[in-house]
Amino acid sequence: MRAASLFRERFGGEPDGVWLAPGRANLMGEHTDYNDGFVLPFALGQGVTAAAAVAAGPGSAGPGSAGPGSAGPGSAGGRLLTLCSRQEPDTVVEVPLDGLAPGQVTGWAAYPAGVAWALEAAGYPVPGACVAIDSDLPVGAGLSSSAALECATELALTALAGCDVSRADLVTIARRAENEFVGVPTGVMDQSASLRCQAGHALLLDCRSLEVAQVPFDPGAAGAALLLVNTRARHALSDGEYGRRRAQCEEAARRLGVPSLRSITDPAEVDRLDDPVLRRRARHVVADDRRVLEVVALLRSLGDPSPAAGAAAAGSAGSPAGSAGSPAGSAGAGDAYGEIGRLLSQAHASLRDDFEVSWPEADVAVEAALAAGAAGARMIGGGFGGSVLALAPSASLDAVRDAITSAFAERAWTAPEFLSATPADAARQVE
Ligand code: ADP
Ligand code: MG
Repeated sequence: MRAASLFRERFGGEPDGVWLAPGRANLMGEHTDYNDGFVLPFALGQGVTAAAAVAAGPGSAGPGSAGPGSAGPGSAGGRLLTLCSRQEPDTVVEVPLDGLAPGQVTGWAAYPAGVAWALEAAGYPVPGACVAIDSDLPVGAGLSSSAALECATELALTALAGCDVSRADLVTIARRAENEFVGVPTGVMDQSASLRCQAGHALLLDCRSLEVAQVPFDPGAAGAALLLVNTRARHALSDGEYGRRRAQCEEAARRLGVPSLRSITDPAEVDRLDDPVLRRRARHVVADDRRVLEVVALLRSLGDPSPAAGAAAAGSAGSPAGSAGSPAGSAGAGDAYGEIGRLLSQAHASLRDDFEVSWPEADVAVEAALAAGAAGARMIGGGFGGSVLALAPSASLDAVRDAITSAFAERAWTAPEFLSATPADAARQVE
């Protein structure tokens, strides 16, 4: 990506480094995060890059005018965070860091400014800095461009400050930026995925304990492929309905006498709820938690066929990485992916009928994908807009794409955008 060239254009000097944070797709577990349950995201190859350098003092045009590093934390006149993005071509935003508080920055710059605020609130100093952003993730498509923006900025600012912050703490800080500074009440999945995933793996995240485990996930080795479909739809309902779903889940847990729906492991228990709406909501959450664990068991039954498996598992010391089991033959892998596909489609039906958060473009994309030979497909993200994830035999991928394109054209909908989805590495310095 071209964050470094944008940096040169806008700030007239060389960045001290370039950091990349990926977007994510969630294989299984939707609306389970705020119910203390399980999610299973993987990082995408697409992401947000941040080219950054320590800035000179206030009013400077950037590192070129006074030399990188000539003014650091506490320089006279106050520190400035100067931000630009290739996706927001008409804006350069200057954020005074001294006295920064929620509410002072709105729009896209609230995400990186919020990270600076949350880092300082956690005791990590942030130097005045110039940051140029570029991205190949569609914005607002449910692929977590917001967390990628936060995490790329966060790695840049902590590296510029010379701070060594654990990944777990980086997750907490970036989430706080989104929740408290931007004001979006998201769970912990997006930042965890961007900061903790490994290539060739999905990340099993227990949203109650925040424990993570790497689960080998390499559909290509089984002759399967993942396809993301940005339906390009975003329905106005989304914010209010998200809040309502959260409240309904809390109420269902209260009536069932448990701290959160995570505590319900027997689906039959949900039938104790008299209210039919609460019963449907709870049924989805309980079933989706189980589906996460079923997918994990299927993936673990295949073991990790990649040669780098040993090294990857060693790199995740301290986490119960699921590399047990031996590589299965392609027939076993095909069966497992067929079963994962069925679970994906089941999850879609559950999100559509019980949780009622799907949208017409997602339902049509899922139906068209299945009719064209996909093993399974489901909406991902909070709902009412965003993307669909399809799992298909590699040989069917073109047919699946064509079928979805035709189904949208027949309805005179905006053409969908297709993205490949290959489980990739977490956020890191790239230059
Ligand atoms: P998602 O995270 O699913 O993409 P969100 O609504 O959570 O959708 O976040 C999208 C917001 O993140 C955008 O409206 C914008 O404010 C910010 N954003 C994401 N990527 C960029 C970018 N490359 N440049 C500027 N702002 C961005
Ligand atoms: Mg987001």
